Amino acid sequence: MALIKDEAFVLRRLDFSETSQVLAIFTRDHGQQSVLFKGAKRSTKTRASIGIDLLEKGDAVFTMRAGKEDRMATLTDWRQRDGFRHLRNALGALYSAEYAADVTLSLTERHDAHPPLFESLDSLFNDLAQPPYLDSIARFQWELLTHVGMRPEMRHCAACGKDTVDDSVLFFSSHQGGALCRDCEPHAIEKRRLSRATADVLIDTKTGRLGRAFMLLDYHLREIIGRPPRLSKMLQSALRDELKQMVDKRLLDR
Ligand SMILES: [Zn+2]
Repeated sequence: MALIKDEAFVLRRLDFSETSQVLAIFTRDHGQQSVLFKGAKRSTKTRASIGIDLLEKGDAVFTMRAGKEDRMATLTDWRQRDGFRHLRNALGALYSAEYAADVTLSLTERHDAHPPLFESLDSLFNDLAQPPYLDSIARFQWELLTHVGMRPEMRHCAACGKDTVDDSVLFFSSHQGGALCRDCEPHAIEKRRLSRATADVLIDTKTGRLGRAFMLLDYHLREIIGRPPRLSKMLQSALRDELKQMVDKRLLDR
């Protein structure tokens, strides 16, 4: 029976008895894992607590039976490293983190390690200490898509490959995998309008406010996953002031 030690985020939590929890954790080097934590009552140096909280980061030790990697692992030890308390103080921050947790679990497989994605989650949870949250969550959406190999093509037409940087009118198709030029757009059934500025902000993510791409990337994630990301609507509601500011400044594609 292999004993594995890895750093992990708790992305989903289910209490199933008075003393046990089933957790979906995302580890740095072993990807997503489903673990059973028995006797969840414990205390740490900093606080007494029952169980492990959603969205905390810690050092996990879990066992996996050889040849039964598809079965649930058992978590034998958990040392909290960061509870990200600031996530509990603002709805926009909390929903952004829960949204990120859901799309991460949806787009990765068990045992499928993505250390850079682990770093992106870490950056997001830290960045959510202060607003604006919209730019932080949009950056995470983009990085997630990049790390799992599903980043949409924005510079060239996803259908014909033509460079689109000079096109003022653009469309986006999730199924085609990115931006569409005006010639290809009529042949696509699933599509939406894409502003030049939003395409530009994704072509060079170091310039401009990435938050303007949030709705587009939320749409893309919905199409890929086959359902809206969990909390998508509640997150939009929590971020309505930030979204409204962007609409007022004509910075958002709807
Ligand atoms: Zn084209």
